[in-house]
Amino acid sequence: MDALPASPLQPDVIALPRKPEAGDGRTNLVGLTRPALEAALAEAGLPAGQVRMRAAQVWQWIYHWGVRDFAAMTNLSKAVRALLAERFAIRVPEVARREVSADGTRKYLVRLEGGHEVETVYIPEEGRGTLCVSSQVGCTLTCSFCHTGTQRLVRNLTAAEIVGQVLLARDDLGEWPVRGAPKDETRLLSNIVLMGMGEPLYNFEAVRDAMRVVMDGEGIALSRRRITLSTSGVVPEIARCAEEIGCLLAVSFHATTDAVRDVLVPINRKWNIAALLAALRDYPRLSNSERITFEYVMLDGVNDSDEDARRLVRLIAGIPAKINLIPFNEWPGAPYRRSPEARIRRFADIVHKAGYASPIRTPRGEDIMAACGQLRSATERARRIRSGVGAAP
Ligand code: SAH
Ligand code: SF4
Repeated sequence: MDALPASPLQPDVIALPRKPEAGDGRTNLVGLTRPALEAALAEAGLPAGQVRMRAAQVWQWIYHWGVRDFAAMTNLSKAVRALLAERFAIRVPEVARREVSADGTRKYLVRLEGGHEVETVYIPEEGRGTLCVSSQVGCTLTCSFCHTGTQRLVRNLTAAEIVGQVLLARDDLGEWPVRGAPKDETRLLSNIVLMGMGEPLYNFEAVRDAMRVVMDGEGIALSRRRITLSTSGVVPEIARCAEEIGCLLAVSFHATTDAVRDVLVPINRKWNIAALLAALRDYPRLSNSERITFEYVMLDGVNDSDEDARRLVRLIAGIPAKINLIPFNEWPGAPYRRSPEARIRRFADIVHKAGYASPIRTPRGEDIMAACGQLRSATERARRIRSGVGAAP
């Protein structure tokens, strides 16, 4: 097994250079917020009076039309196109591997600059589709049921790499508009969940900037209500998430006593259930959103009793909430088992009778191991076997 970080509570992320270089010295425009894009164009020498309009045009080409080549930006003069091509690039991470499940779930193993890999998963549903996006390579936290938590850390993703996951999924889905074609209002990629690898609130600025890019009305234009950020409970960043992103919030709750949550979600030792709930109570008002999703992974004999269900309901009283019950996705060497189906249903019933929606998440894409962290690990294992290093999970 990979070595665990020394302390589960200290973020230990390797800092990246702030400037999103494209490898050849050109700055990648993907992931820059609108003001940052304007500043980049001004710095490249575009006349001050033109910067705003040119930035709006480039923005539309990248995020509305899905264009990656400055030469195709036909409403810019040839001289401007040449200048942009010399100074900038429009770069999206490479898809190292793509798998499509029998149920339509698509999983991308995404290779970042420097060779690290993360996962992005697209889940089609009736009339909509959700993209599960990663925010870090690995995770500094060490939730005991989560496979990502066993992977050695690693680094924060840049805003470019977070936005890039959305762009590459739209490429794969063929979802860029075609000029002259009737506008299709049904979106294949209509929702984003920050539930892939990593703790998004430990990479706050990049996640915020990336979400501002995808929410911008002139481009991908996903409303903030179609974006859900999932956190393990980084309490000091929760209010900031409401104020600076304003998206929906999901919280990995998973236990109803501090003793159990300390083990399952070790960040609880730093910010316990009471501190977390206090921050959550303020969230809907601060973000003007309706309700918070409580994620609750069902672990056999650990957190799944009737008493747990009743305690959960008492704890969250007064918070507009939905409880997402997640059957534990088992991974090789995991110290837990999935709760039996009847147990999960009984738990859901108790929560439901108390007045909360309590959907049980249907496992998707199991044939391609679409659960958190598993495809990347499988690939790493295969590599280690090939290089003779051993096949430990
Ligand atoms: N770090 C963030 C977001 C990524 S994890 C967080 O913890 O919220 C996304 C969700 O998947 C979390 O609710 C997490 O607890 C859950 N999860 C992780 N591993 C899982 C597993 N093996 N089975 C079921 N759910 C899991
Ligand atoms: Fe990190 Fe979330 Fe996994 Fe915990 S559940 S180890 S916070 S990715």
